[in-house]
Amino acid sequence: MTSITPPARAWLPRVARARANYPETCRMEETRSEEITRDASAVLMEKDNRPIVIENPDLVAVVKVEDYTPENVKNGLTRLLDLLKPSFLAGSLEGKSVFLKVNALAPKALACTSTAVTGELSKILQDKGCKKVLVGDSNFNKALTAVTLKTMGFSAIAERLGNPVVNFFDHAWVPVSHASFQAGPITSIPEPVAKADIVINLPRMKTHAGFVFTGAIKNFFGLNAHKNRMHVTNKDKVRFQQMLGDIHQAVLVSAPGSETKPVLHVMDGIVGMDGKGPAGGKERAFKVLIGSFSPVAVDVVAFTLMGGNPLELEAIQSLGKRNGWPATIDALRIVGDDWRPLVQKASLPPLSVLRSGAQGEANASGFMQWATQVVIRVNQRRCKKCLACVKHCPVQAISKQGDKIVLDETKCISCFCCGECCPNNALVPRIRLTELVMQKVLPASLVITAIVIFLVILARFPYT
Ligand code: SF4
Ligand code: SF4
Repeated sequence: MTSITPPARAWLPRVARARANYPETCRMEETRSEEITRDASAVLMEKDNRPIVIENPDLVAVVKVEDYTPENVKNGLTRLLDLLKPSFLAGSLEGKSVFLKVNALAPKALACTSTAVTGELSKILQDKGCKKVLVGDSNFNKALTAVTLKTMGFSAIAERLGNPVVNFFDHAWVPVSHASFQAGPITSIPEPVAKADIVINLPRMKTHAGFVFTGAIKNFFGLNAHKNRMHVTNKDKVRFQQMLGDIHQAVLVSAPGSETKPVLHVMDGIVGMDGKGPAGGKERAFKVLIGSFSPVAVDVVAFTLMGGNPLELEAIQSLGKRNGWPATIDALRIVGDDWRPLVQKASLPPLSVLRSGAQGEANASGFMQWATQVVIRVNQRRCKKCLACVKHCPVQAISKQGDKIVLDETKCISCFCCGECCPNNALVPRIRLTELVMQKVLPASLVITAIVIFLVILARFPYT
């Protein structure tokens, strides 16, 4: 293959260097995303097959942090880094760039990584000599991402660091192809992330009404150029979770030559969310920071601390298996504070969400599988008809009919994007069986009970 790699593009992954002019043509415009995806598929790319080697995939640091006071957060992060000893911190960070991939899901404080963790970590990196610490993310579209980054305080942190905050929709997306990809041949990641020397993933510890849990693995979905399309092409939730794994692989191989990019994952679990997460759940203080070079290890520990069983989550197990990274609590080397007293009984979405939606329904065999599925309902009283859900549903399952927002269950893929973007928490997941009991069985049994009581009274007091 003739190399067209100019020196300035040396940072690009090998596959992207082969088409060094490609990123210029795929500057993201929301309206052009479909077209760009077709272009990306059309580009013939050489598959990268470098081995992926990360530092200590079995090592996890658990550090108790009482609250978000700057001193506590700083001490917690410093201790966590001391426990993990990342090789990139062995010397000075001068001349290196570090990208902090925050969670800026929606303009709701609890839905995003805390600014306390982001801000204190960026100061530690600066103290290590790093002059280029970048902060960024993307959610549903360019405008909502900009609002979220600004109102949640990430823009102010970036300004203090001397770099503009990174809204991925303002940048090019670099196509990457690696032999380990499972959901498709190409994954595009944002140029600032592909270009960074080091990436630090900062997820928040939350439940997810569509995927049970969202942590280090799911937080990289913000790096995907075509979120709606990814939901459509990966309706099957197993495949969707393989696609999330592909994004992690893409970031790791976005280092020059045959290197693996250093990626550190630090879970913000000081205050997390349970119930109907990831945007509309309830605040729950887990009082913990969890760090590892493996997103699998971070998620195993986080989900265990929430009271869940990581063996039941496909995203964790499949990415662990793919790379040979330990994916059970017993296989991990957990350092720092004793994690056992920190385990809570958080309110977790039912596992049946993983086989819900039109696809799950088609696969359901038997009444119980059908009855335990989760369906999304619109709370018409809470709904303010802003139409955000209509705009962002990847399969156009929601529409406005008259003065009501209506959801077509036969189209719904149970991704919960609508719930994530609804500013009023008006989209609520319900288990079919519970709904059936509440709406049909309970009223009917109340009527029957009332009739029985009436008949008993009539029998005992016939002349009343
Ligand atoms: S209605 Fe909501 S959960 Fe269903 S496909 Fe649309 S965005 Fe996803
Ligand atoms: S996003 Fe929420 S408030 Fe807006 S129309 Fe949809 S359900 Fe109603």
